[in-house]
Amino acid sequence: ENAVAVWDRLHSAADPLPQLPYSVLALGDSNYSEFCGAGKKFDDRLAELGARRIRERADCDVDYETPANAWIEAVLGATPAPLPADALKAGCSRKNPFPARLLLNRRLNRDGSEKDVRHFEIGLAESGLEYEVGDALGVVPQNCPELVEEILLALKCDGEEAVPAPDGSETGLRQALARDCQITQIPPSLLAWVARRSGEADLLALCDEARVKERDAWLWGQEIIDLLLAFPGAVPAPAEFVGLLRKLQPRLYSISSSLKAHPGQVHLTVGRVGYHSRNRARKGVCSTFLSDRLHGDATVPVFVQVSKSFRLPEDADRPVIMVGPGTGIAPFRAFLHDRRASGARGRNWLFFGEQRAGTDFYYEDELDPMLSDGHLTRLSLAFSRDQPEKIYVQHRMMEAASELWAWLQEGAHFYVCGDAGRMAKDVDAALHAICETAGGLSSEAASDYVKKLKSEKRYQRDVY
Ligand code: FAD
Repeated sequence: ENAVAVWDRLHSAADPLPQLPYSVLALGDSNYSEFCGAGKKFDDRLAELGARRIRERADCDVDYETPANAWIEAVLGATPAPLPADALKAGCSRKNPFPARLLLNRRLNRDGSEKDVRHFEIGLAESGLEYEVGDALGVVPQNCPELVEEILLALKCDGEEAVPAPDGSETGLRQALARDCQITQIPPSLLAWVARRSGEADLLALCDEARVKERDAWLWGQEIIDLLLAFPGAVPAPAEFVGLLRKLQPRLYSISSSLKAHPGQVHLTVGRVGYHSRNRARKGVCSTFLSDRLHGDATVPVFVQVSKSFRLPEDADRPVIMVGPGTGIAPFRAFLHDRRASGARGRNWLFFGEQRAGTDFYYEDELDPMLSDGHLTRLSLAFSRDQPEKIYVQHRMMEAASELWAWLQEGAHFYVCGDAGRMAKDVDAALHAICETAGGLSSEAASDYVKKLKSEKRYQRDVY
């Protein structure tokens, strides 16, 4: 969000910028085909405007620290400042997660639902770990042991084979597959290796960079185990196999509790990912680790991911409008608990949606009393499958256009959380439409109004 204004400026700049020295540090995830796409665009545009590149762009993958620090040192001539002491407290970093205990795992859907969304309560005990509402929790998962065994079988290994661990030491293959490596989605490195070793013309063709769309379509719904079983003659040796895999990454979850209401705890609202493809049942790594595989005294390594750009208004009297369908409700439950505990007087309006009211109305038992006692000023619900036509949160926004516009005029902050694919775009379009229909703005003025909301940090999104 905070790069849009700079980007727009650079694009509308008519004059060249020959005096401007620059260098780009691009961040990304090489699982995606447009790896570091935004950074590349900035770099190209600045070059087009004649700015002076003082150092080649650095493209960083998910483990960004080493190349990013090298870039910072080279460009700024400075060693990156060490983290402040409070950020180094146990559990505060991705590198040093806190082994937390799972206190509660409760399904939020009733029987008959097509969804499986869980409410988790995690104990922070003596961790010293703190968070603010709006932050996310990083969870370090382990892979499904049955899948590990299937892969070992396909590799014709017993799991004891020595392979390199991420820290440079040595570990057993079973351990590496369970703990260190991403063993579901097929990385391009493994695909290329199997294509070369098998000599399969179709596979080799898919490795051509010009055919990235075809490759993505072919890979959709396929996992490493499928590739190993389909090409049993092209199976790497243990250490080589591990070298071709990506590192298993932590997953982030919007925190759905407030420390003011639940001291020593952090709550999450997680959709369990499970689906069928090519005749196999598949499981999302982290959501099923939390839902299915944490029993008894087992602990889950967690850390806090600070989200400075998703915060309640500093002025507690300001109204807030929160749009959070599905698991998008998570940070808004936290906002509501926090505002109640701190006695914030600003009005609260929540838009929530899911498939069916009877089975998928998350936290109904908490929201109803909040609505009755007035803490929740308005609750707008959109259950898409309870009537012949699909109704979503953006439709409820449009129905309440004039009230929503009035709240914005009174200084409300507008928040969106949840699905980035469609929901966030539809909600954004509805917001623009409301500025036009209820606010009487032209389409250009509506777009300026929304931009201004963003620059004033009154339009904040946490979408994934
Ligand atoms: P993965 O193992 O990562 O599998 C997911 C992948 O499986 C998909 O990317 C896709 O490639 C594949 N896939 C999924 N469905 C299908 C299908 N039908 N057919 C073929 N392939 C498919 N999630 C929440 O539930 N609640 C939250 O509050 C929340 N907050 C988030 C906040 C942030 C800032 C971010 C970045 C993400 C958040 N997420 C949240 C998403 C969460 O981090 C994980 O991405 C999610 O739980 C899935 O992780 P997983 O390990 O279970 O699945």
